[in-house]
Amino acid sequence: MWVDAHDRIIRVSPEWDAFALENDGADAVAGNLLGRPVMHFLTGDSVRHLYRSLFTRVRRTGATISFPFRCDAPALRRYMMMHLIPCRNDGIELRSEILKVEPRDEVCLLDRYQPRNEDYLQVCSWCRRVHLDQGWVEVEEAIVALDLFESPVLPHMSHGVCPNCFDEVHRQLQTGEGPDKQRS
Ligand SMILES: [Zn+2]
Repeated sequence: MWVDAHDRIIRVSPEWDAFALENDGADAVAGNLLGRPVMHFLTGDSVRHLYRSLFTRVRRTGATISFPFRCDAPALRRYMMMHLIPCRNDGIELRSEILKVEPRDEVCLLDRYQPRNEDYLQVCSWCRRVHLDQGWVEVEEAIVALDLFESPVLPHMSHGVCPNCFDEVHRQLQTGEGPDKQRS
């Protein structure tokens, strides 16, 4: 995906629609994205805040920033790497790369079509861990801890950034170096 100097989506890759339809539904197809601000499609204030800071850094330094993130589906753990690549006229390419995919038993909590109750669980948009009293844990662990297996209705997922990921992104904002520093 490419954004212009005002963070508006100006182009997506040819494979975009196939992935969007499989994972995010018809709302996420290119026709609904082009010309609109990318921040509109990021959930959670802290997530938008970090992306804004990362974009600012990429434009200011002209250097690519890369960071790992997870983009899970109910039955898949997807380990991804995001590269924010500076383009001409202050545009930025958001290039995501799949590093590893692990199948798992379907996690009902991540199924968009499940009925939800009034409760909210906080999930980290970067590492997909879920916030419980005892800390940030994988979603499968949260389901066991909260005894959600038999629940007919499930809590909503509210998107934020866990302290580990927040610190990691901030470290990059200061040094410009990711955990996997890119070789050129
Ligand atoms: Zn995290």
